[in-house]
Amino acid sequence: MAVDVRVIERSDLSALLVALREAGYEVIAPVPGDGSIDYDVVTGDGERPAGFSDEQGPGAYRLKMCDHELLFDFAAGASSWKKFLFPPSLTLFSAQRRQRSFEVLPGTADPPPRAFLGVRACDLAAIDIQDKIFLGGAFVDPSYRQRRKDVFIVAVNCTRAGGSCFCASMGTGPRVSAGFDLALTELKIGERHCFTAEPGSDRGEAVLARLGSPPAGPALEAEARSASARCAASMARQMVTDGLRDLLVQNQEHPRWRDVASRCLACANCTLVCPTCFCATVQDVTDLAGERAERIRVWDSCFSAEHSHLHGASVRRTTRSRYRQWMTHKLAYWIDQFGTSGCVGCGRCITWCPAGIDITEEAAAIRAGGATTTAPNSGG
Ligand code: SF4
Ligand code: SF4
Repeated sequence: MAVDVRVIERSDLSALLVALREAGYEVIAPVPGDGSIDYDVVTGDGERPAGFSDEQGPGAYRLKMCDHELLFDFAAGASSWKKFLFPPSLTLFSAQRRQRSFEVLPGTADPPPRAFLGVRACDLAAIDIQDKIFLGGAFVDPSYRQRRKDVFIVAVNCTRAGGSCFCASMGTGPRVSAGFDLALTELKIGERHCFTAEPGSDRGEAVLARLGSPPAGPALEAEARSASARCAASMARQMVTDGLRDLLVQNQEHPRWRDVASRCLACANCTLVCPTCFCATVQDVTDLAGERAERIRVWDSCFSAEHSHLHGASVRRTTRSRYRQWMTHKLAYWIDQFGTSGCVGCGRCITWCPAGIDITEEAAAIRAGGATTTAPNSGG
């Protein structure tokens, strides 16, 4: 079915944000944060910061200003939308002392309905993966369900690849194909600065109708598709996914695991920035007077020794076994569990690894050979 793509001029973009707010959404959009692109609630007239771009590579990130005045000329920063749907810290419940008893109180309040503006294709794929994890099985996460159910997604197709991106080879980007309410492509053609706007749902149609956005026309639609194609073609990294699951499962004792362990600091950065990683732990904390206690769910990582602590000891005692666990889960066992790879090719784990470890390079090194086969999860 043909989709009625419209155009929103740059000067009218703030009207989109205002329309979303008037429709009852708290709008969250990219902002230049603490040295990296972050996401935050949009207040005021909805005008977005312009001219930001980035340089990325293994262990390197630099946010920079350009004079092009584009609004979305950057790739993924350290943050992802994960923090809004699966918060880093969530109070499950608390207990307050009342004389000789305790009153049990509810945990973190659910947020209002939200609109995510600027969701890239890789991050939309990551949300789809976390939907499978938190909503798809026998055990549904009530907090995730509540946070996810009304989210209005304004996707932005990428027109420039970041230095660590490899979404094209993972089949997740740089252009969105489903799962959005609106999909924008930012175009600068001569003096004209505009966005093609493709509705992906009735809600998206309703917002465009409210804005009165005219049809984009074939020329702008073609330019938007070409911009995404150029972005895909310029991606310097790729992950060869053919047979990757079996390759990793069959190479549990490949010498490369020892090599990468000699560089890996087990700092957990890669798991915390990853938009699909979902490990968590539960902590009980009390105040000093013993008047109040809280049970809190916080992000955890398979790189911590404590995470695999079972009956008196960690079952993954070495960095080698933890890195292997992370990568084989992400790229192999995830497929068995959830029917999809756990990697969307956003490149965050490459950029934010202080040792500059590149998951595409590690997979390629294992593919290159020198393997011996042993049983999985052999601990050492
Ligand atoms: S493993 Fe790395 S590239 Fe893949 S989704 Fe996670 S952070 Fe992004
Ligand atoms: S791969 Fe890099 S980011 Fe991940 S734990 Fe090792 S050093 Fe840290």
